[in-house]
Amino acid sequence: MKLLVTGGAGFIGSHFVRYILQTYADYKIINLDALSYAGNPENLKDIEKNKSYTFVKGDIRDFKTVKGLLKGVDVILNFAAQTHVDRSIKEAKDFVETNINGVFTLLEAARSAKIQKFIQISTDEVYGSILEGSFIEKDALSPSSPYSASKAGADLLCNAYALTYRMPLIITRSSNNFGPYQYPEKVIPLFVTNILEGKKVPLYGDGLNVRDWLFVLDNVRAIDFILHKGEAGQIYNISADNELNNLELTALILKKFGLGSEWIQYVEDRAAHDRRYSLDSSKLRHLGWKPIYDFEKSIEATIDWYKTNVQWWKKLKKS
Ligand code: NAD
Repeated sequence: MKLLVTGGAGFIGSHFVRYILQTYADYKIINLDALSYAGNPENLKDIEKNKSYTFVKGDIRDFKTVKGLLKGVDVILNFAAQTHVDRSIKEAKDFVETNINGVFTLLEAARSAKIQKFIQISTDEVYGSILEGSFIEKDALSPSSPYSASKAGADLLCNAYALTYRMPLIITRSSNNFGPYQYPEKVIPLFVTNILEGKKVPLYGDGLNVRDWLFVLDNVRAIDFILHKGEAGQIYNISADNELNNLELTALILKKFGLGSEWIQYVEDRAAHDRRYSLDSSKLRHLGWKPIYDFEKSIEATIDWYKTNVQWWKKLKKS
């Protein structure tokens, strides 16, 4: 199989590229990434010389570039996006341009090249907040931030292309990922690296917002599973039932360093901060996927990775 992975120099995309190359010796991957602030060639340094791997610096909004790469490609997997909610609140333009216009360009290129499968990597945030119960794939979208609204817009566009042009589209919606190589603006690496720098950790509002945590390799396994067993026209939620409020998550991280709540600095809440995300991933589980990574062990492995890879995150925190 030949895959076009977009955004493969980012956090989840780089794990996916590595996993596929390690798992399928005969698969080829082209990684198209614009190398925005979150794209980092160092994330794939270990595989950059792999003969099955080609990196192309380019933008998913550039039709000519995308179309030019599609010869012989079986599947497009779109991880490329602007991803940080706080940045989207400060300035939404890049989010609309990449997350909506970029997906539109990819869809048009895929349509003209008659691609066999297009997997759009979306997020639980498109459903918005839910105080009780969990969202299923058929639930209505109710995004709150410019980030989640732009991802929801892309999802709707994908649905429309699937219906109108009978394109073989699949959407994955996962809960919050964590693991090595996550940009240190996101909460877990931000808190871990702050502690390593001797700084307090900034906790939004009352700290009681709930997130459902998923180790990145479980998400990658799920996307691999969907690549091979997923049905065109379907949406799949991906989650591992690790719900914690942010205060519990913070306490857990501090505990791993032997520290207490005096290291927490409460800061003004994020605007329109979703109270709780929760996904029901039984549709994917019935097909045969399930998470395998233990949450606490994965948090420990992630902390260890940031402890031993200081040179990776130090320069990102300065920029
Ligand atoms: P990331 O910010 O770490 O990486 C995004 C990548 O996309 C970067 O390498 C960046 O250079 C690239 N990119 C940005 N704009 C581009 C453009 N116009 N053209 C080409 N490349 C471009 O993001 P991530 O956390 O790895 O997320 C990957 C995908 O998964 C995103 O679509 C995101 O919405 C989704 N997702 C993430 C999470 C999470 O917790 N991180 C959860 C659910 C869904």
